[in-house]
Amino acid sequence: MIDLDAIRADTPGCRDLVFLDNAGSSLPPRQVLDEVQAHLRREAEVGGYRAAAERAEDLEEGYAVFAELLGCEPHEVAFTDSATRSWLAAVDAMSLSPGDRVLVTEVEYHSNALGLLNLGIKIERIPSDPSGRVDVDALRDMLDSRVRLVSLVHVPTNGGLVNPIEPVVEAAHSVGALVLLDACQSIGQLPVDAAALGVDVISGTGRKWLRGPRGTGVLVIRDQTGLRPRLIDGKAAVWEDSDTFTVAQGARAFELWEYGVAERLGLIAAAKYALRLGISEITAAVSANASLARSLLAGIPGVTLHDLGGDKSGIVSFTKAGRSVEEVRDRLWDKGIAVSCSYSSSTRYDMTRRGIDAVVRASPHYFVSPEQVSEFARALTDV
Ligand SMILES: *Cc1c(COP(=O)(O)O)cnc(C)c1O
Repeated sequence: MIDLDAIRADTPGCRDLVFLDNAGSSLPPRQVLDEVQAHLRREAEVGGYRAAAERAEDLEEGYAVFAELLGCEPHEVAFTDSATRSWLAAVDAMSLSPGDRVLVTEVEYHSNALGLLNLGIKIERIPSDPSGRVDVDALRDMLDSRVRLVSLVHVPTNGGLVNPIEPVVEAAHSVGALVLLDACQSIGQLPVDAAALGVDVISGTGRKWLRGPRGTGVLVIRDQTGLRPRLIDGKAAVWEDSDTFTVAQGARAFELWEYGVAERLGLIAAAKYALRLGISEITAAVSANASLARSLLAGIPGVTLHDLGGDKSGIVSFTKAGRSVEEVRDRLWDKGIAVSCSYSSSTRYDMTRRGIDAVVRASPHYFVSPEQVSEFARALTDV
């Protein structure tokens, strides 16, 4: 069981706010904040190079920490500056050409879809089953040897859906296609184990459920993919002679030399914090808060829940009759309750299909108390 008092003491912000925007950008615990601030101070004392050298072992340990978190080998981990950067880097390495087929789920995220469209790739949508999850039978019917990539959003940005992974991987691998798992909304709230799931590539971000600093992301490139980056720098390769160079083995070839060292240390601290609490404990606590929110919201006149799927994630999406999503968000904010809005422009296939322009998104993390969830429901009743 998560010790709520201890966890809340680590997160000063959660006393002043009912913070329900962990799907947007969470409140980092003090362990993360301390790490970032201390490193920035050290950089100001001795310069960035010396400061980084002092933390070389901790920075190296970060690969092992994320390997543990994501069920892969340390050399399969690369750090980036966002989930989108990770996703784009992996897709770029696939050197897709217009004849290749790429399949996506109906809850594909805008930045992923736009990245593909800009490459001139025709995107084919895998239908959803009646519950809203990716329809694996429909996927099987779409597969042939020209399918290079199946892009699978684990948890979409706009609601409680959790997509199945293993059957998608099994189907995709039967024709030699790679599965890229967008785990941006699942890392830090649900278990994501690359080896157990069999996925080929994972993209994730630091600031959402993992509670790390902004401007941080992670990319897992599993050995089985053989993917190599097309764009490299002096971190990825050694310049041996005027025209010769050797590219580093493993996912690290996807990194660039320069990065925010303080933020990286903060990200590693955030992952350690999550591992210390235990992902299954976190999942249970987030799920309890989201279930409580859904059951309370279901009883409020005029409120409609929009979450798809069976077992749901910590993202609770809803609208209130007679109020715009912005009005709901701003009125709640005035009462010290942080929620955000999610628009059809982020998940166009899904929202257009369901005829929804926008939803309010409440995403309670484990540090939110049940009393705060009730406070949110009472406030929404009055909006
Ligand atoms: C937020 C989000 C992303 C993008 O993450 P960034 O770190 O902002 O690049 C990708 N996919 C999903 C499902 C998201 O919710």
